Amino acid sequence: MENKPDIIATIEREGFTAKRKGRAVWLSCPFHADKTPSFKINPDKQTFYCFSCNSGGDSITFIEKLHGLSFKDALKYLNLEGNHPVKINPKARTKRDLLQAFRSWEHEYLQELTDYYRDFHNILKKDILKDCKTMDEIEEFAEDFHLMPIVEYHMEILFNGTDEEKYKLYQGVNENGKV
Ligand SMILES: [Zn+2]
Repeated sequence: MENKPDIIATIEREGFTAKRKGRAVWLSCPFHADKTPSFKINPDKQTFYCFSCNSGGDSITFIEKLHGLSFKDALKYLNLEGNHPVKINPKARTKRDLLQAFRSWEHEYLQELTDYYRDFHNILKKDILKDCKTMDEIEEFAEDFHLMPIVEYHMEILFNGTDEEKYKLYQGVNENGKV
């Protein structure tokens, strides 16, 4: 792994408050008008993804998008903020590197979606009104409910889509394009 600045520390240093929920961390998306937090941070993988506007990436992508910086300037910005030096070789990626990145993303993203789907359906088995004790818990459930069609749609593409459809999703998730 490259020595990237921690994703949560980077986001919080920019003044956002992340909300922990199980192993994932949620935030109201800084990149679109987000009423319910759709912006999921995965601390294990050091990535973020917004289920509403499809912004996604790592701590460097976050800084690029937030401040409208180039990749190079985002690295500079992060170093100036007193982080670890970032050791990333910005060499142009070969076609093989890209394909490899796509394949490993495909695998990881599907895992992430199925985990999320399973957690959600485990919650469904409970008696929501009895088991949710606070308004916050009910709201969290409502957020999951709201995201589930997108999760299912993305899973459908990964399970049954053509490589072209999957690649389009990959670009959307990683480069904030439209899916
Ligand atoms: Zn968003």
